[in-house]
Amino acid sequence: MNYAESIVDLVGDTPLVKLGRVTQGVTDATVLVKLEYLNPGGSSKDRIAARIIDAAEASGDLKPGGTIVEPTSGNTGVGLALVAQQRGYRCVFVLPDKVGEDKINVLTAYGAEVVVTPTAVAPDSPESYYGVSDRLVREIPGAFKPNQYANPNGPRSHYETTGPEIWRDTDGRVTHFVAGVGTGGTITGTGRYLREASGDRVRIIGADPEGSVYSGGTGRPYFVEGVGEDFWPGAYDPAVPHEIIAVTDAQSFAMTRRLAREEGILVGGSSGMAVVAALEAAARPEVTADDVFVVLLPDGGRGYLGKIFNDKWMRAYGFGNAPEGHTIADVLA
Ligand code: PMP
Repeated sequence: MNYAESIVDLVGDTPLVKLGRVTQGVTDATVLVKLEYLNPGGSSKDRIAARIIDAAEASGDLKPGGTIVEPTSGNTGVGLALVAQQRGYRCVFVLPDKVGEDKINVLTAYGAEVVVTPTAVAPDSPESYYGVSDRLVREIPGAFKPNQYANPNGPRSHYETTGPEIWRDTDGRVTHFVAGVGTGGTITGTGRYLREASGDRVRIIGADPEGSVYSGGTGRPYFVEGVGEDFWPGAYDPAVPHEIIAVTDAQSFAMTRRLAREEGILVGGSSGMAVVAALEAAARPEVTADDVFVVLLPDGGRGYLGKIFNDKWMRAYGFGNAPEGHTIADVLA
């Protein structure tokens, strides 16, 4: 019989697929996307969760019956909840209020508890995403905060799994790796592995929402979720990426919708953002048909149906003016 012993054993080994339409007229390079939504929890964050919990058990930071407390945009919470529920830990997650309701519901479905905090407060305010989680850690006995922003096991999990998978699946022919930067764990771990494996031949490109610190901003609010920061996390090593490309919300959301409509790939806004950055780099004159871009797509689009894929929401926030188009007359027009 061919089966996994536990859902956690199905994390990783995600496939690459070639983009065929959105690249047309833009680049002759091969552009491959790595589908992290095919992880059991639906995102790249499943990878870091098991690694972080294993390490915390080994170090004694997490003891039997303990509580995991983490500020997370949702995906890390799902990964942590998957592992934690099997090992008998309680999970409390702190989320900013810009996160979609679907993402919150998915966390509670796995049995986690969720606290929602306002986005429009200073990061050092006690009401902030970070302030609230620090207080919960202090006041809940046996609490452990994975702190994905500083935990070296985040980048390490990508160094040990994501990087080697890309190297193996491209037969070492990858020339460019592109990923969005949130905690920085993906680009740091995967990028470091690919630079080492290739004798420093692979170019590492970060994608960042315009306004975030990685591309020189101050942390000005943007709508794309899971990426960009208003501070420099310890999980990010700025020496790994060769460059960071800033992408606007409007560009990210337009590409996210094209990926669904033209490539059959239903992913989140940070995936669209990464593809915009990849196509910008792949359109440069020095890029040839021999180049192989690998773009990591962190999560699926189901958590964004009420926003990026909702024409009313898009119009209300000034991202396009698609007609509603749900009548017979619209279809026959
Ligand atoms: N996209 C989404 C949707 C995410 O949840 C995250 C993680 N915060 C990222 C991208 C960025 O990954 P990383 O934290 O490894 O930089």
